[in-house]
Formats: sequence, C-alpha cells, structure tokens
Amino acid sequence: MKLIIGYLYGDLMNIYGDTGNIICLKKRCEWRGIEVEVKNISVGDKLKPRGFDMYFFGGGQDQAQTQVAGDLTESGKGKVVREEVERGVPMLSICGGYQLLGKFYQPFEGKKLDGVGIFPAYTKASNDRMIGNIVIKPSAFSLQLSAKNKYAADSRQLIADSYLVGFENHSGKTFLENGAKPLGKVIKGSGNNSEDGTEGCIYKNAIGCYMHGSLLPKNPQLADWLIQKALEIKYEKKVKLKPLGDELENKAHDFAVKEFS
Ligand code: GLN
Repeated sequence: MKLIIGYLYGDLMNIYGDTGNIICLKKRCEWRGIEVEVKNISVGDKLKPRGFDMYFFGGGQDQAQTQVAGDLTESGKGKVVREEVERGVPMLSICGGYQLLGKFYQPFEGKKLDGVGIFPAYTKASNDRMIGNIVIKPSAFSLQLSAKNKYAADSRQLIADSYLVGFENHSGKTFLENGAKPLGKVIKGSGNNSEDGTEGCIYKNAIGCYMHGSLLPKNPQLADWLIQKALEIKYEKKVKLKPLGDELENKAHDFAVKEFS
C-alpha cells in the first residue's frame, strides 16, 4: 500500500518542530512496509481533488498566515481541502494551520483573515501568550465520531482513557461554535483559549489543535489513527496496522503525562 501526504505550506508554516509530525508519519508507515510520498503544497501550486490521502498543516507566525490565507482563498485550494475533508480524508493541523481552517483568524494587526471553514470555530489574537507543556484527555465524542465513520479506525486506538501531550505557543484564542467537537479537555495548559477548558477541534477525520512538540512522536496512537484512517478511506476497507515496538515513544508520552499533569 502507499500513502501520499500533502504538506500544506511546509515551506512557510513549520515552526516549533511541526515537520517532526511528517517524519513520524513517514517512519511509522515505512516500518510497516507502507510506501509514503510527501509533497509540499504551497503558494501558487494547483491542488486537484483526490490527489492526496492525508494532509498536514503546521504552525506559523502571523505574517506567514496572512500570505497563506490569501493563497488558500485566491487559488481555490481552501475549497478543495474542505471537500477532501468532507469525503473523510484525514487532516492534522497545528496552531497557525488550525487557525486558518476555522471560520476566520483576526491577527493583532491588519485585516481579518478568512478561514477555510472546516472547523466551526474562529480565532482572535489576544494579549496573552499561551506557552508551555500541555496535556489533554481526548473527548469521548472524538471516539463516537470515529465509531460512526464506517471505515473508522478501531476507536480503541484513540483510547478515551489515554492522554495526548504536546507543547503550545500561541497568542490566538480559538472559540468553538455550538455543535463543534473539541479534540479534548485540558488537563494541564491553556488549550484553545485558556478560558473554556477545551483544546482543539475534530470534524470528521480532520483534527486541529495547538499541540506542537512535535505532537505525533510522543503520541504514537494518534499517528497510527491518522495512518489507519487514510488507508481505510483510500482503499475502502478495514485496515489493521501491525503494532510497532513503541517503548521509547510510550516512555516519552508517559513521562510528559506524569510530569506535567
Ligand atoms: N500566530 C498564531 C498565534 O500566535 C499562531 C502561532 C503558531 O502557529 N504557533 O496564535
């Protein structure tokens, strides 16, 4: 089997180690004999539907976000990405990327940036800098959501009683609209806005969150959840991933949970 990962604006939006998520996805596929191709999708590139099996969109500063937001709208790539998510293609977006996949992002200076409209959420710059280790408990509904999707990965993979750990660094505050599903509940850290105890958002198989780190190497079950979803949507069949020896990953994960929660 083969996966083609679309790295959205990897040349402009890849701060705080977010490219480590691409490396993690690639390695966890290759260790299982799954071929992986990663393609950068940036300003001026064309994006055709059904060209990718998964998307990754990392963090970036306001200046890069302004350039990228314009391109997403003017080039029509935002509309294609939204349609891809609607058909179930998995997406992981972090911080600045996450902010641009909501309804809008209002930076400190300059005009409001239209979002792609995947997540029922909006972001406004704030005077608070939310920075530090973050631990969340994935919400049950993110599991119900996956259970509803007929190709859903075995929802035990994103076990409700496990935690996700990462590192956040943002001043933007994201607010979820009614009906939006948070990725999880903040155990330690700020999360979406340091006010309502939510972190991230999940819609179909698209995840947005503030967890840099990189996120996936320390949360192997989430990496595998994304890989499994991508394979199941692409090949239209249930896929059981061969377990990997995750001793090191789990040690790093459990240390962070113990140390920071
Ligand atoms: N500029 C955005 C903020 O500060 C996103 C920063 C990031 O991607 N870490 O909220």
